Amino acid sequence: MKAAVYRGAGNVQVEEVPDPAIVEPTDAVVRVVRSCICGSDLWAYRGVIQRAVPARLGHEFLGVVEFVGPDVRTVAAGDLVVAPFQWSDNTCPACRDGIQTSCVNGGTFGAPGTDGGQGEAVRVPWADGTLVAVPGGIAGATDGLLRSLLATTDVAATGLHGARLAEVGPGSTVVVIGDGAVGLCAVLGARSILGAERIILCSRNPHRRELGRRFGATEVISERGDAAVAAVRDLTGGLGSRHVVEAVGTPEAWEMALGMAREGGTIGAVGVPHTTPQLALFPLLVHHLRVHMGVAPVRHYLPDLIDRVMAGTYDAGAVFDLELPLDQVAEGYRAMSERRAIKVMLT
Ligand SMILES: [Zn+2]
Repeated sequence: MKAAVYRGAGNVQVEEVPDPAIVEPTDAVVRVVRSCICGSDLWAYRGVIQRAVPARLGHEFLGVVEFVGPDVRTVAAGDLVVAPFQWSDNTCPACRDGIQTSCVNGGTFGAPGTDGGQGEAVRVPWADGTLVAVPGGIAGATDGLLRSLLATTDVAATGLHGARLAEVGPGSTVVVIGDGAVGLCAVLGARSILGAERIILCSRNPHRRELGRRFGATEVISERGDAAVAAVRDLTGGLGSRHVVEAVGTPEAWEMALGMAREGGTIGAVGVPHTTPQLALFPLLVHHLRVHMGVAPVRHYLPDLIDRVMAGTYDAGAVFDLELPLDQVAEGYRAMSERRAIKVMLT
């Protein structure tokens, strides 16, 4: 089969790789219908972090089950299934606590020795604990539905998780730092699931600002750094915001988050902090701040999100603003790296 392969910074190719097969009795093999490129895939692409070469790519996908191992009970050949970006057994203590991204048997698609989502098929470990079947299957699935479902594999759930970590609830005022797909989905989740009343999005990109407003942002500020902190304080009577979602992960974004949170406020952080060597603890102490972080347990959110997608009440599919065939995956990486696209869907 064909799959995207990382060959070093700036170098992604489509190559012929071995067809996946059932290895463990708990495995399934899924034929990929849609996959996408993640902002986190760009860290290695840009050379910010080191990755083994060659490596398989992609951890967001949905598809149709081709084969299941003899111990698989909850999905069967022919099912349309959504995969979270990490597999999990969904039975260990961490999974039962709702943090499937800490599963003792868990792992990430694309890690050494595994298949990535950016390919024609994927071996899925712990299929029962990982995959969620979509009612109605592939036959009735429109392109719009597939987009909306694909968003739940990572960004829609990660954005919602950020807002949850920030303790957003009905009537909340929340600032969202980051106008990538995760930040935009934090806006959507805060508004349409958690019931936030005021959502201040930090974005200077016209296309992303517009999508942020469509997703529920009530105010959008274009300032950066100290000016952004001042703008948020102006908008909140000088107090700052009780809830802040940090969806970038850089030191600059963290400084903004710390500056924008009001006394006793909560920062929900889902940005991957590859370049944040230290978090200053002093302001956390003196301002009574709470920081909640975590790799989003997408599997925890998936059943509910899929129900909402099927009911037509939750749709983050608009984050995909460029669609390419798998053969053109390299152009997809370039487009996202150059910020010409928010998020690329591969068909
Ligand atoms: Zn587990």
